[in-house]
Amino acid sequence: MTRELESLTKKILVCEECHLKLGRTQVVPGIYGPQKSICIVGEAPGYYEDQQGFPFVGKSGELLDNMLKGIGLTREKNVSILNVIKCRPTTENGQNRTPTDSELRFCGERWLEMQLSLLSPKLIVTLGGIALKFFIPSGKVTQLAGQLVKFDELNHIFVTYHPAYILRKKTLEMMEEYNSHFEQILSLYQSETLEQDFNQVTERDEQASKKTNQKSLKDFL
Ligand code: SF4
Repeated sequence: MTRELESLTKKILVCEECHLKLGRTQVVPGIYGPQKSICIVGEAPGYYEDQQGFPFVGKSGELLDNMLKGIGLTREKNVSILNVIKCRPTTENGQNRTPTDSELRFCGERWLEMQLSLLSPKLIVTLGGIALKFFIPSGKVTQLAGQLVKFDELNHIFVTYHPAYILRKKTLEMMEEYNSHFEQILSLYQSETLEQDFNQVTERDEQASKKTNQKSLKDFL
């Protein structure tokens, strides 16, 4: 971790700038991989993340790790895993809840944008509709999943589903589609020029994913 990232993380860990501090056990800043690699971005910590202080733990984290393993990558070694919001949004009864747009913007603009600017990722991957909304407010994951989308003059995100959604659906079709997205992520990461290579990558990975799907399908269906 660079000194700048370390100092930013120290600030995130003690942040009390919004009301979400009231429902948290601890702040979950994220896990950093190397600069100029892949940043995976989810929405916010849930119960287990809040308890343990790490993003994507529990069943969703297990599926995410398995998908990364399937393409030869691991968190920290190759990939950063972050959330837009760093503190768990809760209901009055202490249950997980979906963050509001203003919570998303407030925390994301304060911390995630700085993390991304220090990590300079080659590829940002959003998991699920809420993370997508931070980058593209009108974006719908059902329409953009599996696509590389420009969100400003220079930067792209690759859009895919949240692992919790895949676990809820638990269909062979969804797992195949999810596998093909991760194959695309790997190819994009390895490509020289994201945009130019995207069409070729999509076509090639549709073929490749059919061969590699079987193991992870057995694990999760
Ligand atoms: S959600 Fe973000 S802005 Fe709000 S207290 Fe937590 S770290 Fe700070």
